[in-house]
Amino acid sequence: MNAAIYLDHNATSPLDEGVLEAMLPFMREHFGNPASPHAAGRAAQEAVERARQSVAALLGARGGRIVLTASATEANNLAIFGTVAAAGGPCHAVTTMIEHKSVLEPFRHLEQKGRARVTWLRPDGFGRVHPDQLAEALSGETRLVSIMAASNVIHTLNPIAALARVCAARGVLMHTDATQWIGRLPMDVDGLDLVSLSAHKFYGPKGAGSLYLSDRALRAGIAPRMLGGGQEAGLRSGTLNVPAIVGLGAACDLAARCQEADAARARELARLLIQRLTERVGGITLNGHPQERIPGGVHVTLEGADSKGLIASVPGVAFSDGSACETDRDPDYVLKAIGRPEAAHRSLRFQIGRTNTAAEVEEAAERLAAGVERMRAFKYC
Ligand code: PMP
Repeated sequence: MNAAIYLDHNATSPLDEGVLEAMLPFMREHFGNPASPHAAGRAAQEAVERARQSVAALLGARGGRIVLTASATEANNLAIFGTVAAAGGPCHAVTTMIEHKSVLEPFRHLEQKGRARVTWLRPDGFGRVHPDQLAEALSGETRLVSIMAASNVIHTLNPIAALARVCAARGVLMHTDATQWIGRLPMDVDGLDLVSLSAHKFYGPKGAGSLYLSDRALRAGIAPRMLGGGQEAGLRSGTLNVPAIVGLGAACDLAARCQEADAARARELARLLIQRLTERVGGITLNGHPQERIPGGVHVTLEGADSKGLIASVPGVAFSDGSACETDRDPDYVLKAIGRPEAAHRSLRFQIGRTNTAAEVEEAAERLAAGVERMRAFKYC
């Protein structure tokens, strides 16, 4: 059953109708394999290349290469394992303690296998990494830096362009997991070497993502994770998922047209949600950076409330306590890393999307307030 009010767009977003329309012909009549030399194959190949151009346009990519993947998870794995493997021996890498698990786990694996020495940066109390802090962590052996563009838990944006300049000055490759940024805010990949994104976060289908590689990253070398027929210039073998890729391209076109207006509306609705929660629930603290944050993202700690209990008991509203991706569904490592361990199990994450209305936000705040009231009464009786 779909929840009546969907405020969990960090987890995933609904498929846009226009995106679906663009995909359908590639599930029906245009079913060719893009690697086939005949007309059916060529039609699929042309659609894939159009989608690739749409991704490049949204990223402002003027050179380099867009590698099409099945997810941001795959793009992150390719960026990290691929770059470190191409180094030909153990190297040094820098990342942060609050990355998504699809960045944390590859680095943990490389560390455990002795293939990389990893410096884990602790962000500030807002979840941001500072350029000086990064500069201090780099050494002559550093090959790769991976810092998320926007937090999937507390919504904070990193100063990605400034961090990339630090890396460029020291000849280090800079990767950013931009999964929660792309489609919501403009991105210019100039200066970045590797950028991951995922279509389902911005009204595209699940099962489509991409990794941008700059010319510098391509020259430095990247070892493929998937070997086989040599698709995607040998960087990602496997028959391309044409309908999903077409959907990714259409979602990029949609974002290029709508993201600015969407962001303005989402910011307004987030302000309304915070205001109503403050009035009706009280005892709330906003986590993450107050200004430098994803438009429409609200992460709050509620005094006297249990997040899992609220998620289960507030009817007809979809929200979360953090990332939906972790198997143990525990985003508390982010709160602990930013020095807010007391916020663990008492925090809620909302992400407003393009179809949400002010009436929905009002209604969601009412239902939440009632849920928190019940919980507080139960606790103190
Ligand atoms: N990185 C971040 C920051 C994310 O939020 C997510 C999805 N929760 C991912 C990576 C993984 O994306 P995908 O679902 O495409 O694997």
